[in-house]
Amino acid sequence: MKGKDMKYDVMIIGAGPGGIFSAYELINQDSSLKIAVFEYGNPLEKRHCPIDGDKIKSCINCKSCGIMNGFGGAGAFSDGKYNITNEFGGTLHEYIGKKKAIELMNYVDGINVKYGGSKTKLYSTTNSDIKRLCLQNNLHLLDASVRHLGTDINYEVLENIYAYLKDKVEFHFATPIKKIEKLEKGYKLYSKDDEFCGDKCIVSVGRSGSKWMEEICKDLKIPTKSNRVDIGVRVELPAEIFKHLTDELYESKIVYRTEKYQDLVRTFCMNPKGAVVNENTNGIVTVNGHSYEDPALQTENTNFALLVSKHFTEPFKDSNGYGESIARLSNMLGGGVMVQRFGDLIRGQRSSAGRLNKSFMTPTLTATPGDLSLVIPKRILDDIIEMIYALDKIAPGTAGDETLLYGVEVKFYNMEVELDNNLETLHKDLYVIGDGSGVTHSLSHASASGVFVARHILGK
Ligand SMILES: Cc1cc2nc3c(=O)[nH]c(=O)nc-3n(C[C@H](O)[C@H](O)[C@H](O)COP(=O)(O)OP(=O)(O)OC[C@H]3O[C@@H](n4cnc5c(N)ncnc54)[C@H](O)[C@@H]3O)c2cc1C
Repeated sequence: MKGKDMKYDVMIIGAGPGGIFSAYELINQDSSLKIAVFEYGNPLEKRHCPIDGDKIKSCINCKSCGIMNGFGGAGAFSDGKYNITNEFGGTLHEYIGKKKAIELMNYVDGINVKYGGSKTKLYSTTNSDIKRLCLQNNLHLLDASVRHLGTDINYEVLENIYAYLKDKVEFHFATPIKKIEKLEKGYKLYSKDDEFCGDKCIVSVGRSGSKWMEEICKDLKIPTKSNRVDIGVRVELPAEIFKHLTDELYESKIVYRTEKYQDLVRTFCMNPKGAVVNENTNGIVTVNGHSYEDPALQTENTNFALLVSKHFTEPFKDSNGYGESIARLSNMLGGGVMVQRFGDLIRGQRSSAGRLNKSFMTPTLTATPGDLSLVIPKRILDDIIEMIYALDKIAPGTAGDETLLYGVEVKFYNMEVELDNNLETLHKDLYVIGDGSGVTHSLSHASASGVFVARHILGK
């Protein structure tokens, strides 16, 4: 019996880290459970982004994005940095408590290690001299441990977890769920051609499912709120400049309060010897980065994002719309992602292909040379420039002429779904986890939320 004739114990929508770790924990603890996972995208081996830098140079807006959708979710080709911390990556601890959140992130780490990550390193900020160096320069290093799987090992871990799950859990790929209906007991899910029924439903649709999630919440009258978006650039510079930080910490999350506006700017998603990449969210092309654990695949550059959080107050509610408009502007001027040398930005001139070609550093992403001051609001650009000069004090060379700024990097936050402390909606047995809930924004928090809800269901 399969598909619509089956009544499932648990139906999971989305096969990103949240969905995967829910399925893993459920079946690992109770092999008699009938579990189905419905996923918009493809199995891991069929996930493919057509951009080859040759025939296809920029995003062609595929129906299901090879980078964002499919087994592994948005995390499949990510750098696989699992940060074990309550300081960033989400607010899971506000629901389940700080101790439990850290315990679950460590549990997830153990599974990643077991399924292929055993040779990777766990970095930590504890007892680091870099913390003092930051404080001496008005910068704040956030505490965290981070397991860097790297894009290659992250992929291997996913392959191994899928091999473990595939005969125990029913996977439905290329099956976007259109609608969730609440039944007297349980839920019915509708795809284009099928209907599926089950007792319990876990929704884990990530950032790419944010618009859909909004509709579902409206339909099922689940309250939501939304007021934050992060806007900034991705910085790329020679790896040597950040070597003393990345060798010791791999990723450092550094926060700076600007003198001019008293805004907070932070480093985000640091990729030593990595590559800058395009990211497509709902047809809008923004920038991101990743790096490989395998030295053969590493580059000579390090990249990281500098982000400024915009929190809006009444009456404006569409923070994601604001971020999208800025990203659209850069897409309009640059045909995709735009790149500018820091020196050109400071001199108020557009970067040109000629000047870029003369640089000593080779960019890892082909982007359109342009002028970011025509795209990014002044306040945010001023914040970013101030932060670059602040970072230059702990990593001299950051404010160098040839430092590249790719724009724009936007972190869209899903609206926050109203959930109780079990991550359950006001509808009994309907849970929302991972980035789609607005509670998490990272691999480790999303995965931990999956384990948490699985255990809650098992406890019932
Ligand atoms: C390039 C890149 C690099 C990143 N690097 C890192 C990193 O190093 N460290 C870190 O902590 N985070 C990183 N992130 C963020 C991280 O990937 C996410 O926080 C994490 O994947 C969230 O997991 P999730 O399960 O909540 O959602 P997702 O991973 O987004 O998975 C959701 C899944 O649901 C599916 N879906 C959506 N709608 C539907 C529907 N209606 N029906 C069926 N399926 C649906 C999607 O196809 C997707 O596969 C990165 C993200 C990107 C894009």
